[in-house]
Amino acid sequence: MSRPKFVAGNWKMYTTRAGAVDLAAAVAKGLPAGGKTRVAVCPPFPWLTAVADALKGTPVAVGAQNCHFEKEGAFTGETAPGMILDAGCQYVIIGHSERRHGFGETDGLLNKKTKAALAAGLSVIFCVGELLAEREASQTEKVLETQLTHGLADLSAAQLEKVVVAYEPVWAIGTGKVATTEQAQAAHAFIRQKIAGQFGEKAAAGLLIQYGGSVKPDNAAALLHQPDVDGALVGGASLKADTFLAIVAAG
Ligand code: PGA
Repeated sequence: MSRPKFVAGNWKMYTTRAGAVDLAAAVAKGLPAGGKTRVAVCPPFPWLTAVADALKGTPVAVGAQNCHFEKEGAFTGETAPGMILDAGCQYVIIGHSERRHGFGETDGLLNKKTKAALAAGLSVIFCVGELLAEREASQTEKVLETQLTHGLADLSAAQLEKVVVAYEPVWAIGTGKVATTEQAQAAHAFIRQKIAGQFGEKAAAGLLIQYGGSVKPDNAAALLHQPDVDGALVGGASLKADTFLAIVAAG
């Protein structure tokens, strides 16, 4: 089955309003006409509307980096999935390691967020990945299995069509230590096999699995040409249009 490539930029807590709009516009402008790789950018919350407006009519989609699981309510400081949709987004990143490990988000919480985001009409970029100590203890597959089993629990195969999985080994995020192509391919193949068991072969064959963790223009092509690597979730290198576009071009 041939799957499209999908490259998303995770801007984390960087950019100013003007910088975000300029970056988005430069990404849209620099995309090759007729390019097949899907592209999204995920700015900080306050810039979502401005970036979505700037990207209207372009092929670049917009995503948020987190959401709450309730539709509305007395949840000071939180953002509902429906609000994210209303702001002009198509995607939301759920379960980034900085949320799991920096904010204590559990598999159970991430499952609630995923279900709420899908119910609101968003597509989900669901992140999984092991810590360095877990890899060194040969626990990588066990960690991925647990994160997928619980994080994607109760979803139907039809709902899974709106989920992208991002494999992001925590030791590779923001460290400059990229996974080898063999490590990435092995983890992606394991994720696809696990999804086949959970949702069926057809769902697994269609699932887009992004790699994330120190993706740069000089390592992107080798990663993106692995058979089970369907794209990239890019942090640092997505903050400059030329490096991000070079990664998109590698797809
Ligand atoms: P990085 O971040 O590309 O800066 O390593 C990736 C991510 O956190 O999604």
